[in-house]
Amino acid sequence: GQTLDTAWAVRWLRASAAVIAENRVALIELDRAIGDGDHGENMDRGFTAILEKLDGEQPATPGAAFKLAAMTLMSKVGGAAGPLYGTAFLRAGTAVGDAAELDSATLVAALTAARDGVVARGKAEVGDKTMIDAWTPAVDAAAAAAASGEDPAAVLAAAASAAEAGAESTDPLIAHKGRASYLAERAIGHRDPGAVSSALLLRAGAQAAE
Ligand code: ADP
Ligand code: MG
Ligand code: MG
Repeated sequence: GQTLDTAWAVRWLRASAAVIAENRVALIELDRAIGDGDHGENMDRGFTAILEKLDGEQPATPGAAFKLAAMTLMSKVGGAAGPLYGTAFLRAGTAVGDAAELDSATLVAALTAARDGVVARGKAEVGDKTMIDAWTPAVDAAAAAAASGEDPAAVLAAAASAAEAGAESTDPLIAHKGRASYLAERAIGHRDPGAVSSALLLRAGAQAAE
């Protein structure tokens, strides 16, 4: 795998914008089933704005790239997901400090800080049918991979796979946070859009490191 340097962080953000644009309609349809149908549009607006920012400035470190993403998502994306993803990227940026390159331990610290930020802000637990159902298994898988000596690219790949499984795990759940909670049992059988977008972002990060 590649080293997780600034070039990787920028590749990740650009790949995220591409995958969110590709999945814009799919995310809208997921959110239409159990929310208000705007998740794909919200995420696409935010990541398109990130691309525009990256055309104008070159972040000096991975942490600076994460903070650029955080500020942009917080200012451009409304609803629940904007502040939650903004907090995730901001906490990740703080966790990595001014490191030029992320090793496995630093990557795990960044993923953990991102997840903890989403929990601090949204108060969701695993099983509430939110993006936390993707993030927490991802953090756990990343920590396990790092503990068994995997390189950062492999740690990220493990996190992405766990996030994908975590997103699938939301299908049978009743939501206890966010708009989907208004539906009670009618949310059963539908996948949480934020868990899906979280898995897409983590997979893009892993692919950017291949
Ligand atoms: P909104 O619900 O305001 O329209 P989005 O549609 O962009 O915002 O995002 C919805 C997603 O946000 C949900 O699918 C869920 O994953 C996530 N979400 C909502 N509330 C919370 C929360 N309290 N904690 C964690 N994630 C949440
Ligand atoms: Mg919505
Ligand atoms: Mg909305």
